[in-house]
Amino acid sequence: MTFFGKLKKMMNPFSSTQVAKEEDTEKVEPGEGVRGRPKIHVLATGGTIAGRLVSTGPRYRAGVLGFEALLDAVPALRGLADYSGEQVANIGSQDMDESLWLKLAHRVNELLASPDVDGVVITHGTDTLEETACFLDLTVRNPKPVVLVGAIRPVGALGADGPVNLLDAVTVAVNPSSVGRGVLVVMHGSLFEARDVTKVSSSALPAFAAPNSGPLGQLIDGRVYYGHRTGLSPKRPVFDISNLDKLPQVDIVYGYAGASTLPVKALVDAGCRGIVSAGVGNGNLHRDVLAALANASGRGVVVVRASRIPSGLTLRNVEVDDNRFGFVAAGALNPQKARVLLQLVLTRARKPEEVQKAFDNY
Ligand code: GLU
Repeated sequence: MTFFGKLKKMMNPFSSTQVAKEEDTEKVEPGEGVRGRPKIHVLATGGTIAGRLVSTGPRYRAGVLGFEALLDAVPALRGLADYSGEQVANIGSQDMDESLWLKLAHRVNELLASPDVDGVVITHGTDTLEETACFLDLTVRNPKPVVLVGAIRPVGALGADGPVNLLDAVTVAVNPSSVGRGVLVVMHGSLFEARDVTKVSSSALPAFAAPNSGPLGQLIDGRVYYGHRTGLSPKRPVFDISNLDKLPQVDIVYGYAGASTLPVKALVDAGCRGIVSAGVGNGNLHRDVLAALANASGRGVVVVRASRIPSGLTLRNVEVDDNRFGFVAAGALNPQKARVLLQLVLTRARKPEEVQKAFDNY
């Protein structure tokens, strides 16, 4: 049976009160497409794009609908590509974790290696979408398009944005200009690179921005317009995860006036391999926290200075003497993405200068 034949068995999530149950979701194998049309594989992980309004308790539940129900809700998708897909998870992305990142990355690498897949679209909750995008950007080697997409309003809400976002994501994935641009994110008519995109609003539809670089392109009336060439560095680190089944422990400590040293001490005592500081301003640190992190660095914990400020760069040796303390400066990466990169770098290096090089090259 073709993919769309299987889709016919599914209900339209906008049509009634029915909700796709886990058992309704079915894995559809790649390669069922009509020859000559792009073949897109959908990896569904949950989030608001697969969420639904509920009448009691919290207003909605993320990660309810299966991927086939999502596709079925947007008939225009059929004109763009042939689809295969699978449900990798069905969670709110606040529950995303490293084992799921690795599972996704392994699967994406495997799928893209197949001639039966021209691109992958990943539906994802928006809370941690930027971190998954960053992880995949650093671990997927194949130049075929990988596009992450989410939604701010759940199915059933007025002006639900999931359907158009999904259509836009596939529009990007099937466009030849999307090849070789690294992992991409599509939200609210904008196209972003994984490295700089971040969630900037917890409620507004334009919830994502790339504060330093701006969007890579726009989606208007079902077409993608690329604004500028990708800034992918030829030296960009790409990590081979084929033999990895877990990542080193790296945590984030937040900076604020009068910051406590307790989190740093607790993390060092717990054997944490790396600490990312979400510092103030240019990644600055309260003097007590600076001393605690210097001590951690002296004990072999890799310390990366990032900033809680949403835009701008965290540069080396401005107010903090990174050379003296063996710290690494995160550059354009926000703390949560600095953590992703540090976890990956620590799988193959631990000297601060090697870690700094990876940050400089991304
Ligand atoms: N917290 C949920 C998640 O990240 C819902 C938010 C959303 O998807 O926009 O999956």
